[in-house]
Amino acid sequence: MNEIEAKSILNKTKRRDPWFLDDYTINPFSGCSFNCLYCYIRGSKYGEHMERKLGVKINAPELLEKALANRAKKKQHGIIVLASATDPYLQIEKELKLTRQLLEVILKYRFPVHIITKSDLVIRDLDLLKEIDEKAILPKDLPGLERGTIITFSFSTIEEKVAAIFEPGATAPSIRLKTLEACANQGFLTGVSMMPLLPWISDTTQQLEAMFSAFKKHLAHYVFPGHLTLYGDDPSSSKALVMRAIEKHYPELMPKYLEYFKNRTDMPAYYKKAFYTKMSELGQKNGLRNRIIP
Ligand code: SF4
Repeated sequence: MNEIEAKSILNKTKRRDPWFLDDYTINPFSGCSFNCLYCYIRGSKYGEHMERKLGVKINAPELLEKALANRAKKKQHGIIVLASATDPYLQIEKELKLTRQLLEVILKYRFPVHIITKSDLVIRDLDLLKEIDEKAILPKDLPGLERGTIITFSFSTIEEKVAAIFEPGATAPSIRLKTLEACANQGFLTGVSMMPLLPWISDTTQQLEAMFSAFKKHLAHYVFPGHLTLYGDDPSSSKALVMRAIEKHYPELMPKYLEYFKNRTDMPAYYKKAFYTKMSELGQKNGLRNRIIP
């Protein structure tokens, strides 16, 4: 673990994303030990084994205290996404309690929070998240939002074997599903970011139906899906790592992945059109909305 003295911790976004509803973002760690092959933060800075380059922003609580005191004084309460470029509940957080300290500051200044995670460790902090849920000052320009805490669980698959290949450091999908249900049972606004779906692996009709049905069964309120995007040319880039995994574990899919990603980062327009139509149909069929706010 590398200790980092960060210069700032609260990032104001240029515009609020319609899915994630982020007015601000906080990343307590630099890099991510969940080490997903498709992760967009990969590249020259973090490299192939992101867990080895993991940095902990040890002064994050003090920085956040100053930043939120200032924003609160100006009545600039907005939704804080925790986190946008790491997971707030990495393995190291269990001992460190850095995210927990940040939540204490967020509660003190009554900011709403959106937790995005692949971990069950969020359960530990439900006491603080409950208080934030009740006491946060909500943004006036989001009249449909009535809750101060949103908890989103991220999935690219619910198959344990597939997750072990593409998300080697993350909590198993079955545990994530149980945690989602536990949060819903405690009354939290909670749902799923199904991003990124892996072409011909987790985006097949059979897999999608199983996923939507599992999310419904485990009491998700919303599901927002996203397709795969792969960047970079160096050996540690998301594109190189996913291609290597396909070659090793799904050699029969290699020609299709090469066709789509050899000279591009994104799926073609016809795929995206069919993809979002299918997602909308499955959402309706399962009574799961595709937005956090109804
Ligand atoms: S959990 Fe998120 S931030 Fe961490 S490696 Fe996976 S995709 Fe990247």
